[in-house]
Amino acid sequence: MSKIYAIVNQKGGVGKTTTVLSVAGYLAGSGRKVLIVDMDPQSNATSGLGYDKNEIEKSTYDVLLEQATAAEVAIYNPEFRLHLLPANPSLSGAEVELVSSIAREYRLRTALESVNGQYDYILIDCPPSLSLLTVNALTAARDGVLIPVQCEYLALEGLGQLVQTIDLIRKHLNPGLQIRGLIMTMYDSRTNLSRQVVEEARAHFPGKVFRAIVPRNVRLSEAPSFGQPINIYAPTSPGALAYKVLAAELIKGDMGK
Ligand code: ADP
Ligand code: MG
Repeated sequence: MSKIYAIVNQKGGVGKTTTVLSVAGYLAGSGRKVLIVDMDPQSNATSGLGYDKNEIEKSTYDVLLEQATAAEVAIYNPEFRLHLLPANPSLSGAEVELVSSIAREYRLRTALESVNGQYDYILIDCPPSLSLLTVNALTAARDGVLIPVQCEYLALEGLGQLVQTIDLIRKHLNPGLQIRGLIMTMYDSRTNLSRQVVEEARAHFPGKVFRAIVPRNVRLSEAPSFGQPINIYAPTSPGALAYKVLAAELIKGDMGK
């Protein structure tokens, strides 16, 4: 069975997409079969792998609307050894179109069940909201939620609401849903603030904060414009090394589960 994780934080710009692409890159680099699911209408995970979102014909939109299967929509990038269910801007319409549909919260989960076992890992990149798209991701995320947290002022603000949403989904839609871990991103070792945010996160979520901490690193911000995950674009950069350690930490924690 695949390990299925949703990467969620309703704040934008905290490092969700960067985390998805970078962790996926290292999981694939270590021989795992990895599927990235782009659930954000902004399609940053799709463009971050070098695809033009406006040229994507079949996307997660079609999967959610049951106009295509996951297998039909998935594309494979042999250079990165990554599989992708791409997004395109039409995904922003899915929300409205699904409103009166049957089992609208289960669409992604059902679609992924059809490819379950073909991948070791499925990583779902979410939009910056707690919308129906994110609810679909949380309902599909059998093995839990990864929450990137930017080491910034008020970083933990909003996490209460996210935790509440996760509790609701666990109660009504996905009984096994758990917070797999918080990933501290854009850490700046020169500031006390970064250190304080990490301490605060550890205090509020004991045992849930990944030991690997992702530094602020310009290579990570450049990689998407070259359409490459960081393990290909700048494998010796500090950002790459942090994500490599993070991927190893994730794999280690998943073993035997
Ligand atoms: P989200 O998906 O949560 O909106 P992104 O992963 O797109 O966030 O990151 C927001 C911006 O910050 C992007 O331009 C990205 O390239 C950049 N970024 C993400 N992580 C880092 C980092 N560790 N160091 C420097 N820039 C980063
Ligand atoms: Mg994003």
